[in-house]
Amino acid sequence: MTDPRSIAVIGAGFSGTILVAHLLRSSQGPLRIHLINRSGRLARGVAYGTRSSRHVLNVPAGRMSAFAEDESDFLRFAQQRDPSITGGSFVPRRLYGDYLEHILLSAQSGSARGTVLSHLADEAVAIDVDGDRPRIRLVHGNPLAVDHVVLASGNYAPSAPRLADNAFRNDPRFVGDPWKPLAINGIRVDRPVAIIGTGLTMVDVALELAGRGHTGGMIAISRRGLLPQPHRRGTAPPACDQLPLDLVACAPTAANYLRAVRQHVARLQREGVDWREVIASLRPVTPSLWRALPDAERARFLRHLRSYWDIHRHRMAPALWESLQSLLQGGDLRIVAGRLTSIVTTPEGLTVSYRGRHQDAVTTIPVAAVVNCSGPEGDVRRLRDPLIGDLLRRGLATCDAAGLGLRVDENYRLLSSNGSASSVLSLTGPLLKGAFWEATAVPELRVHAARLAGRLAGVLERVES
Ligand SMILES: Cc1cc2nc3c(=O)[nH]c(=O)nc-3n(C[C@H](O)[C@H](O)[C@H](O)COP(=O)(O)OP(=O)(O)OC[C@H]3O[C@@H](n4cnc5c(N)ncnc54)[C@H](O)[C@@H]3O)c2cc1C
Repeated sequence: MTDPRSIAVIGAGFSGTILVAHLLRSSQGPLRIHLINRSGRLARGVAYGTRSSRHVLNVPAGRMSAFAEDESDFLRFAQQRDPSITGGSFVPRRLYGDYLEHILLSAQSGSARGTVLSHLADEAVAIDVDGDRPRIRLVHGNPLAVDHVVLASGNYAPSAPRLADNAFRNDPRFVGDPWKPLAINGIRVDRPVAIIGTGLTMVDVALELAGRGHTGGMIAISRRGLLPQPHRRGTAPPACDQLPLDLVACAPTAANYLRAVRQHVARLQREGVDWREVIASLRPVTPSLWRALPDAERARFLRHLRSYWDIHRHRMAPALWESLQSLLQGGDLRIVAGRLTSIVTTPEGLTVSYRGRHQDAVTTIPVAAVVNCSGPEGDVRRLRDPLIGDLLRRGLATCDAAGLGLRVDENYRLLSSNGSASSVLSLTGPLLKGAFWEATAVPELRVHAARLAGRLAGVLERVES
């Protein structure tokens, strides 16, 4: 008798959970799957671990199926809980966490004899790849040797702003990671709060504070002061099924892409097509457009266009938009375009200084707390994560020129510093961003997880001797 083949998946958020569900469904056994997650909570991750009902999905229920081949899977699950939910509803993210847990448990109970899933509540800090069996070093448990390791470690907490004096980082009134449970619980409701960032996390935090009766006022600061756009309410207008030909044919530069998309949007708007449909129609070609961009053009896109892309591509539910507008109109929330210059701790609170965009003068305001809503850290070189740091240091993984993610081949195998594709380490989840650009939301991540699972099913098949 030989030992069963084994695989470890590091990270049990959306990507790790769906990958494991595919493996459980396809395995003919014997196979041992270890799902490792530092928080101990399965099938949640950063996005779906929230317990607040004010935190809703930013994609309508009808488009959140975990399986591309069954677009209504999530909708059916959600309607069993609440029949009033429709494909256009924006439901609480915690319901989506329940859905992921349900998928995992049903895949587990329906798996073939000899296919075993075990869950480790632990943190992976390093992977040794000396022979043909990688060994994962864990913070608490003994090292784990398996046949294959998949990194599905997802989104990382935002980095604190780098200012001349960084003492504020140790002040409890600086909320460095707003996604931590209870992160904003201690904030006084009657004093102003500063929020760093004006994206979707700011929207979550501002509405959560407002819902808890915050009366002290909020100010949200980002370089450009741009707000994510809302999804459309009501029935869908004509879908866009024509790609901008100029976009596919033009020389791959950030400026050419921008021009082609703008012209296309303007042309189709005259025919009644909403710009959102044009952005949606780009999804299938985005990875190839991204791959065609030389590094310098990618850098140009990230510097000048990324924030505009993000607010049009990653939108908020219409109801959140309306609530946000009433906070803005009522003066409870102010959005400022500017650069943060300092955060200073004082006995009474913190003082925040910023220089308004295109202005010389610095404005200083006293606040009770500062909440860092600058979004997931987007540069792997700046992560303070032991596992990623170890993989990069030892050349087992490498990152793209912009540091958006880890480099992989077309089969999701990690590329080492000598350019070779690992036979024992694979990647899925948002760290695929460097390779595909579109690796943030469920509609793309489910495809990456399914494709990787398909490849692994072959790799893990027992080779009978
Ligand atoms: C707040 C928020 C809201 C979002 N809302 C939506 C939405 O409504 N719709 C949508 O389509 N997309 C949304 N997204 C995008 C999101 O990226 C994906 O939907 C998806 O949740 C990503 O899942 P993941 O499993 O790849 O990563 P994550 O959810 O980040 O999960 C990774 C898990 O791995 C664990 N982990 C990491 N490193 C280790 C280690 N070394 N050892 C052990 N465990 C480790 C982490 O603790 C975490 O639990 C949202 C993202 C965020 C941050």
